[in-house]
Amino acid sequence: MKFSGFKVVKEALTGHKGWRPLWRNPDPKPAYDIVIVGGGGHGLATAFYLAKTFGALNVAVLEKGWIGSGNAGRNTTIIRSNYLLPGNQPFYEFSMKLWETLEQDTNFNSMVSQRGIINLIHTDGQRDAYRRRGNAMRLSGADARLLSRDELKKMVPFLNCDNARFPIKGGLMQPRAGTARHDGVVWGYARGADMRGVDIIQNCEVTGFRIEDGRVLGVETSKGFIGAKKVGVSVAGSSGRVMSMAGMRLPIESHALQAFVSEGLKPTIPGVITFGAGHFYVSQSDKGGLVFGGDIDGYNSYAQRGNLPVVEDVLEGGMALMPMIGRARLLRSWGGLVDMSMDGSPIIDKTDIDGLYFNGAWCYGGFKATPAAGYTFAHLLATDRPHETVTAFRFDRFNRGYVIDEKGVGAQPNLH
Ligand SMILES: Cc1cc2nc3c(=O)[nH]c(=O)nc-3n(C[C@H](O)[C@H](O)[C@H](O)COP(=O)(O)OP(=O)(O)OC[C@H]3O[C@@H](n4cnc5c(N)ncnc54)[C@H](O)[C@@H]3O)c2cc1C
Repeated sequence: MKFSGFKVVKEALTGHKGWRPLWRNPDPKPAYDIVIVGGGGHGLATAFYLAKTFGALNVAVLEKGWIGSGNAGRNTTIIRSNYLLPGNQPFYEFSMKLWETLEQDTNFNSMVSQRGIINLIHTDGQRDAYRRRGNAMRLSGADARLLSRDELKKMVPFLNCDNARFPIKGGLMQPRAGTARHDGVVWGYARGADMRGVDIIQNCEVTGFRIEDGRVLGVETSKGFIGAKKVGVSVAGSSGRVMSMAGMRLPIESHALQAFVSEGLKPTIPGVITFGAGHFYVSQSDKGGLVFGGDIDGYNSYAQRGNLPVVEDVLEGGMALMPMIGRARLLRSWGGLVDMSMDGSPIIDKTDIDGLYFNGAWCYGGFKATPAAGYTFAHLLATDRPHETVTAFRFDRFNRGYVIDEKGVGAQPNLH
């Protein structure tokens, strides 16, 4: 079933009887060539590109709940490629380019909206740092603009530029950044993978790995043993728990991260704004709600819910930046589970166990990475070689001392 304007009109005129479920609900086969553990955005994107780009035909995605029930369905949907370091920036720009053609590639409306992101500048030192970052972005083919205070005031007049604890002196803008609809991304990849023969098996928890002579033979699941020549693990905040079943201890801590939505307001915020003096970021959804967030909860947890001190901290950040937010009523808040690596950068790599591969450690930023993480993990699974944009995302960088310390705050997840 292809979606098109013509199809919408036809269905409207014929009683909407031609729509079909977006994906099948198959029972697992005894064995597959490749099994992906985790039906979030990354797992489904991996399966999609495996089938579409690398011609893998015998693939399954195993999800313990329903697809998109993890972080993919809980995040604040910001997409951008405004990184600094050479290990990171080309990867995120590759992802940005995949976002730009995603809806055509999957034939699904994922509501990719390139409305721009502005990182606010509060000090002269921060302006220097953002100028450097903007230049690094442009070198990798991304777009970046340094905004003066006057330009910024015209674009976002409601910001508290002068009479504030942290006066605003300008901003770094990436016009091609923006947001995408998280469910639409998950469903688009799921449908595209299913159409190409991938089995998406929900309510199927992986409970162990069968490993013999250093080689993975398949996975134990709540639906029985499923054999596999290769297994790719893509479980985000559950990475530590799942990989421990294969006897691996990861340089990753799991933390709750919370998000908030206000009641619907008239269009106020043109794009995404991040507050450079504290940790607060905000955008406005198509329904009108202000969508915002801030710090992770500072303790390790596998619970998908956060705590009140961070709620207070995030709301204080919002009030400091744009006092008018205090008039809006908070509609909902929720928590997800993020996999924080010790340098704030991800891992896409083979493990020491033959046939077992890992994609994780996405910290705050895995949603924007979804297309490229899927593509490059599929590349690794299909060819056994890392894609050129992920050669730095190796496990052994922590042993070798080649960490990608993007945020420049050291190995302290609570400061990321
Ligand atoms: C509140 C919040 C805001 C965020 N905001 C942004 C943002 O604005 N921009 C951005 O780029 N990133 C953001 N992120 C991060 C981003 O959401 C994640 O990095 C990304 O979604 C992780 O990849 P995923 O989609 O595959 O994860 P998930 O959707 O979490 O997928 C992992 C899946 O694995 C499944 N699983 C776990 N264990 C097992 C098992 N044993 N067997 C089978 N399945 C299993 C889980 O049920 C889950 O569905 C945010 C995260 C949170 C929590």
